[in-house]
Amino acid sequence: MSFSDKVLAWFDRHGRTDLPWQQQPTLYRVWVSEIMLQQTQVQTVIPYYQRFMQRFPDLQALADAPLDDVLHHWSGLGYYARARNLHKAAQQVRDDMAGRFPEAVDALMQLPGIGRSTAGAILSLACNQHHAILDGNVKRVLARFHAVEGWPGKTAVLKQLWALSEAATPARRVAAYNQAMMDLGATLCRRGRPECDKCPLVSDCVARRQQRQQAYPASRPRRELPVREVHMLLLVSPGHEVYLEQRPASGIWGGLWSLPEFDSRAGVQDWCDRHSLAVNDEMQVWPAVRHTFSHFHLDIMPCHLQLQNPMTSVMEAGQGLWYNTRHCKALGIAAPVTRLLAELQNLHEGDTEHGQNGKLRKTRQRGGRPRPADLPR
Ligand code: SF4
Repeated sequence: MSFSDKVLAWFDRHGRTDLPWQQQPTLYRVWVSEIMLQQTQVQTVIPYYQRFMQRFPDLQALADAPLDDVLHHWSGLGYYARARNLHKAAQQVRDDMAGRFPEAVDALMQLPGIGRSTAGAILSLACNQHHAILDGNVKRVLARFHAVEGWPGKTAVLKQLWALSEAATPARRVAAYNQAMMDLGATLCRRGRPECDKCPLVSDCVARRQQRQQAYPASRPRRELPVREVHMLLLVSPGHEVYLEQRPASGIWGGLWSLPEFDSRAGVQDWCDRHSLAVNDEMQVWPAVRHTFSHFHLDIMPCHLQLQNPMTSVMEAGQGLWYNTRHCKALGIAAPVTRLLAELQNLHEGDTEHGQNGKLRKTRQRGGRPRPADLPR
């Protein structure tokens, strides 16, 4: 039995056929799923995908939507460049290609956010075209099966893996085969503790024979990530609204809404002075929150300032908006900022819990710091 016959036989018994994007697999539906599945596991993607499809059922709906709305539906999935590229690509197809999604791999790869493997996956899964794929799961299966040495980020290693993927991809049932390879990597040939005993490739797998499954594929050479520190201002109105600003379109969290950001606490104070906000002892610096990107750690120092009087001068400058954490607007907000807003909401709810006699009572001092037990995980 050939490599692909074994994989297909396994797929016929154990493969996943009930995923939402496998139902009515149009180019649009498969494209969105493939972008969401980059760097993200299937179980995490499913609810996001369903909400996204409800709001943007076709390419026209996505292209016509404001970017804010798209980012809002992406909030929490991370890697927001994917959402911006998806939106930009939809507009490109609408404006330059008369709304027809390209059905050739080269044309597809011209769209933002679509590389060779994603293009191959879209066209094979949606149109059963013959294309090899090489996402993270497929890389792992092939690297282990053939004991390919080296980190796949290196051009020579990547080239070798592409050649192996092309050689293994069968002429028929290519959609089922590609789906099977992705499923095999996700469910059996996992990064940690692969279940080789259940694997259809076990009899010829070199890594298994060597008992060195964890050695393949080799990890990226280690390097210490630098740490950046930033102060974020949680400026809260008497009505419990928080001041947010939109980030520039490019760079981290591009286009998302976030808290005003400063290099130091002195920077926060300068900003408050410029907007005639009284900064006194009530400004609380909460414990730092670490968010790790692929190339650095970001240590966020949240500075909480509760305003005693309504103020409008910040808004008048037209830089941002006041965000009500109880009645959330459809905005794209970065995950660590969402967590800080949730902490703040907990704090406010603690302020106004009902007492046993039905009257409102205070449970914490205004401007107080949340206890560790209050913090979301
Ligand atoms: S035998 Fe084990 S290591 Fe080899 S491909 Fe299968 S699950 Fe992966």
